[in-house]
Amino acid sequence: MARTVLVTGGNRGIGLAIARAFAERGDRVAITHRGAAVPEYLYGVRCDVTDSAAVDAAFAEVEHELGTVEVLVANAGITDSTLLTRMTEDRFTRVLDTNLTGAWRCARRAVGPMVRGRNGRMIFISSVVGLYGSAGLTNYAASKAGLIGLARSIAREVGSRRVTANVVAPGFVTTDMTSNLPQQYGAAYRDAIPLGRFAEPTEVAGVVEWLAGPAAGYITGAVIPVDGGLGMGH
Ligand code: NDP
Repeated sequence: MARTVLVTGGNRGIGLAIARAFAERGDRVAITHRGAAVPEYLYGVRCDVTDSAAVDAAFAEVEHELGTVEVLVANAGITDSTLLTRMTEDRFTRVLDTNLTGAWRCARRAVGPMVRGRNGRMIFISSVVGLYGSAGLTNYAASKAGLIGLARSIAREVGSRRVTANVVAPGFVTTDMTSNLPQQYGAAYRDAIPLGRFAEPTEVAGVVEWLAGPAAGYITGAVIPVDGGLGMGH
């Protein structure tokens, strides 16, 4: 059965691959963007996730055009890397506000209709870095670890209403976000990954789509790694 799906940051990278996967199975798929072009098979809604009013307006528009959001994929995210000694409070806060509070804003807006409909799947795109840590990424890692506490608390709050909340934790994925890693770091990271390569966005998308489907109906509060084995044991 077709569902209404909202993917934040769905105009490129992993978010676009996720949106495409849902659209290909026949779902009604909306993506948020910040002014980018939107493929004609997706419904685009302009939204910056750091703006509560914009998040609320985006949900209202999607509900009006496509129906109640039954699957939320909180994917929008940024990095802003530097060592702790050089990290300003503004850089720390900006990453938290986008990656963690942005996801929370969307979840808060999504949960009411999901609970009323006794039907909902929330999927938060975290990172192996949230579990593993990474030098230079105190802001990003904290935001991605925070998504786990967020999802697990939602899982406990609304599980009895048939709403699930899960986390997908990718490792390195070939997108704009990883395209400008210095060459020597790229090689070192590949050496640390048991599968010896970065993931394609479609490999994350497939897991997200599965988590939103009937086969994953009894999974909630889980953290699913899609990292080629990089984070094993964490
Ligand atoms: P990209 O940089 O390719 O895309 C990021 C997306 O997030 C864009 O659509 C961007 O919009 C959107 N976005 C950023 N800030 C905001 C905001 N304030 N409001 C709304 N949208 C925003 O990243 P990826 O596709 O690589 O990453 C997607 C998610 O996966 C992120 O959460 C990232 O942390 C996570 N991830 C990525 C990994 C990787 O190796 N690539 C590994 C692990 C996790 P715009 O186009 O307007 O900038």
